[in-house]
Amino acid sequence: MTISINDVSYRIGERELFSHLTFHCEPGKMIALAGPSGSGKTTLLSIAGLLLPPTSGSVSLGHLQRWSRHNRRAFWKDQAAFIYQDYGIIEQEKVIYNVTFHHHLHATDAQRLADILVSVGLQGKENERAISLSGGEKQRVGIARALWKKARYIFADEPTASLDAGNREIVTSLLRKAADDGACILVSTHDENLIAACDQVVRLE
Ligand code: ADP
Ligand code: MG
Repeated sequence: MTISINDVSYRIGERELFSHLTFHCEPGKMIALAGPSGSGKTTLLSIAGLLLPPTSGSVSLGHLQRWSRHNRRAFWKDQAAFIYQDYGIIEQEKVIYNVTFHHHLHATDAQRLADILVSVGLQGKENERAISLSGGEKQRVGIARALWKKARYIFADEPTASLDAGNREIVTSLLRKAADDGACILVSTHDENLIAACDQVVRLE
C-alpha cells in the first residue's frame, strides 16, 4: 500500500518547519527527505511514520486515513521498521538477538537468519556481541532487522551519516535492493550518493 503525505505542515511555536508537503511512497519506491541539519528531516520522518501528528494535513496508508492507537501499534509491530543513524542496537546482546529479538531459533528460522546475514555481509556473525562490530556492521544489523521482519515500510534516519565511504555504498545498495524487492522506503539524508539512488527527492530548506 502507498503511504501518502497529504498537504502536511509542521509548526513549532511561531516557526513553520515545513509547509504543504505532498508526496506518495508506493511499494518499490525509495524517497529521500533531504536537507541540512535542522531542516526537519527527522520530524517529517516521524510524521510519515505515524509517530507524530502533523500540525495540519494528513498521512494515509492505502485508504486508511484515521489512525487509532491500535492501528499504529499493528503497523509498527508487523509492517514497519526504523533504521537509525546511530544504529539503535543493544551493544551487549548478540547479533541474533539484535536482529530477531530471540536468543534461540528453530532450524528453519536459523537458516533464514543465516541467509539474511549473508545478504548484508555479516555471514556467520549470529553469536557475536554487537559491541564488537564496526559501525558499518552495526548499521547492517539494523538493515538485517528490517529484512527479518519482512518490513514493507522502512523509515531510515540518516542511515549513512556515521559511516565511511565503503559502508555508505553498501548500506545504500542494501536499501535500494529492499525497495526493488517491494518495500516502501523513506530515508532522511544529506548524502548525495544515497539521494541519487532514490526515486524521488523531497527537499527541505
Ligand atoms: P533534522 O532531522 O533535519 O536535523 P529535526 O526534524 O530534528 O531536523 O529538527 C528540526 C528543527 O526543529 C530543529 O531546529 C529542532 O531543534 C526543532 N525541533 C524538533 N522537535 C522539536 C520539539 N519537540 N520542540 C522544539 N523544537 C523541536
Ligand atoms: Mg535528524
